Amino acid sequence: MTDWVGLGAALPNGHARPPAPAKIQHNFPPPRPVVGPSPPNTAPLHRSAAARSMPKIKTSRVKYPEGWELIEPTLRDLEAKMREAENDTHDGKRKCEALWPIFRISHQKSRYIYDLYYRRKEIKKELYEFCLDQGYADKNLIAKWKKPGYERLCCLRCIQTRDHNFATTCVCRVPKHLREETVIECVHCGCKGCASGD
Ligand SMILES: [Zn+2]
Ligand SMILES: [Zn+2]
Repeated sequence: MTDWVGLGAALPNGHARPPAPAKIQHNFPPPRPVVGPSPPNTAPLHRSAAARSMPKIKTSRVKYPEGWELIEPTLRDLEAKMREAENDTHDGKRKCEALWPIFRISHQKSRYIYDLYYRRKEIKKELYEFCLDQGYADKNLIAKWKKPGYERLCCLRCIQTRDHNFATTCVCRVPKHLREETVIECVHCGCKGCASGD
């Protein structure tokens, strides 16, 4: 994912501030004495002298769709939480538990975008798709939420049968009334139950 955080703050109109035209400084090393045959000239022939004198400035400007400024604070907040979770030292936690916050925050981000678009209908398709493309929401997880029985699915791992004993799905997918334990936390993401209707 492109990290554009450092590329200048987003303006109120939702567009990234274009980088100020910077003076390009060429820092060529001093010419070396030629000791052997000079290397073949590999410069593309089609580039004119004018093109060579105006080096192409690489910009990765992102065009933010309408409404971005309304959802950006929440997304930034969740991203900060994600970084915190990733940098956590995991002291005293079981190995599997260390990943739980990461799954939870990832779920929250996807859910936020999903709800805004499908349930609250507060963002437009363009912004919704932008969030998916930019990785603010997990499109595979959202695809599951649209299917009956998966509306509350916690994470994709919990429905991958190869990750579980006896090729079943995760305990968190079992409806409350069908499992013996009333309180559970699944090993994959710490889900306390995500069957539809729970
Ligand atoms: Zn679950
Ligand atoms: Zn699970």
